[in-house]
Amino acid sequence: ELTVDGHDVTVFERRSTIAEEASFATGALVAPGWTADWTASQRGLRMPWDSRLDEGLRLARLPGTGDWSWLWQWSQAGKGARLAQAHRHLHALLRYSQQRQLAITAERELDHDRSQGMLVLWRDERDAHQAQPALALLRETGIAFKLLDAAQARALEPALSAETRLAGAVELSGEGVANCREFALLLRAAAQSMGCRFEFDTRVEAIAPRTEGHAGIVVRAGGAANGAEHASRPFDGVVVCAGVLSADLLQPLGLRLPLRAVHGTSLSAAVREPLDAPLSAVLDARSGVSIARLGQRVRVAGGQTFGPVAGEPSKAALGRLYQVLADWFPGAVRLGGPRG
Ligand SMILES: Cc1cc2nc3c(=O)[nH]c(=O)nc-3n(C[C@H](O)[C@H](O)[C@H](O)COP(=O)(O)OP(=O)(O)OC[C@H]3O[C@@H](n4cnc5c(N)ncnc54)[C@H](O)[C@@H]3O)c2cc1C
Repeated sequence: ELTVDGHDVTVFERRSTIAEEASFATGALVAPGWTADWTASQRGLRMPWDSRLDEGLRLARLPGTGDWSWLWQWSQAGKGARLAQAHRHLHALLRYSQQRQLAITAERELDHDRSQGMLVLWRDERDAHQAQPALALLRETGIAFKLLDAAQARALEPALSAETRLAGAVELSGEGVANCREFALLLRAAAQSMGCRFEFDTRVEAIAPRTEGHAGIVVRAGGAANGAEHASRPFDGVVVCAGVLSADLLQPLGLRLPLRAVHGTSLSAAVREPLDAPLSAVLDARSGVSIARLGQRVRVAGGQTFGPVAGEPSKAALGRLYQVLADWFPGAVRLGGPRG
């Protein structure tokens, strides 16, 4: 966007390419409305020893003193007027992002995996009942949706398993799925062709105001992998988009962002039989697990864990994703192949 607006842009990225972190394998959902709290327990806290995986925010370990105030704010943000306000802000951002994504895709004729429509699935009446506050917020925010009975939902996603009880669904229409990493890689190529510079394997160590009375800022960056010298470079302005690490970069400047890492898990698997796979995306309201079709693959994502999560995802977290996939689309994917 900055390059298109005529700015001279340099992107610093500590990895060897873009979209290697949170944007690598998202659930791929872009339908407005998917971020609503579909169950009452979504804002509950689960202690590290609690084995229930389906509900709330799981704590990887007992939080430190600094974490409790964030967790308190997070739980309060899910209540009453604050929830409604947060949703309005989030949906304005989602809508804007989606408009830009669609406009850029059309203008530049970008070809990435995407599909239309998304269903939020209710396994029973309790799920439907718990979703009422979310539906009220969608109405208030002006997000279009349709309530479907089981037959209507199955007509839209014919591969939904008949073995799993379906009490009803919410149809969120419009764009439903987009491949975040593919889109980002296409954007990078387009930006490079317009003169945007990318400096990979380069970590930004600090951002500081320029000295000697000059306006602007200095970025101290250097090679993380190749041991290149760290050098201070002057710029007129900086856009910080370092994901959850943005807070660390901004804190020395006196900007304290209330950001904490909440980890999710995703898996991708090759479609075994297209007739058994989803046409677009579904979200299992009870577990918060999403299942999306990305061309010849299916992406399953879910879970929210607060605190450090080291290395590979836990067997329990992956097992839960496979279980929800098997509940709704048994036989959709080839199991045991390479992960990606
Ligand atoms: C399992 C899972 C499923 C998700 N599903 C969805 C979904 O369905 N729909 C949706 O909209 N969102 C989803 N999300 C959220 C989405 O992935 C994130 O909101 C999005 O990817 C964040 O993008 P970002 O560019 O801010 O961060 P990132 O993609 O993490 O990019 C930040 C970049 O900054 C770089 N960086 C950090 N610090 C420095 C530094 N000091 N110097 C240089 N470079 C640095 C990192 O290397 C990284 O490349 C999901 C997330 C997860 C984990």
